Amino acid sequence: MSADTRRVEVYPGREVVVEFDPELTFECVDDCTWCCHHGVLLYDRDLLELAQRANLSETTTDFRSEKFVTREPKDRDDHVAEDGHACAFLREDGLCTLHLEEDWKPTRCSVFPLAVRLEDGDLHVDIRDSAHDHCDGLNVSERSVIDNLEAFLPEVLWDLENPDSEREL
Ligand code: SF4
Ligand code: SF4
Repeated sequence: MSADTRRVEVYPGREVVVEFDPELTFECVDDCTWCCHHGVLLYDRDLLELAQRANLSETTTDFRSEKFVTREPKDRDDHVAEDGHACAFLREDGLCTLHLEEDWKPTRCSVFPLAVRLEDGDLHVDIRDSAHDHCDGLNVSERSVIDNLEAFLPEVLWDLENPDSEREL
């Protein structure tokens, strides 16, 4: 492990190797929805949870044998992908239907703006490359990321065969 990484226990016996600046702070910014422009990968447990809250045949799609939240065209032209599409649960007012009405969101939505990858049996956590350019919530508050990792990293991540954040629709 290099000198600028450190191990942090997030849950009892569940550690991560932190690769981002330990001074990093984060608070999601109200008028930004950039991370909701893609289709979110759904893990098995997310699918079970989502099935209790939405019609899966209308809101999910298969891609490379995995399930994702469907993307759909949006009227807004900022903080959406180049094709004008974003997550099916993103309302036109920029709020998340699931978060707002169900007090729940998929695992991958919690992780953003961090990225997770499994390496030699350890979960490594860094900032997503794209977040440096697009996430407005980095270093705008007093809320330390390293001290609040449980808010970003649901415990299910330690049980997944492939928790890597790279896969998007
Ligand atoms: S489920 Fe909600 S938080 Fe996740 S990408 Fe969609 S709109 Fe954003
Ligand atoms: S890109 Fe960052 S600030 Fe914008 S909605 Fe996502 S987490 Fe929040």
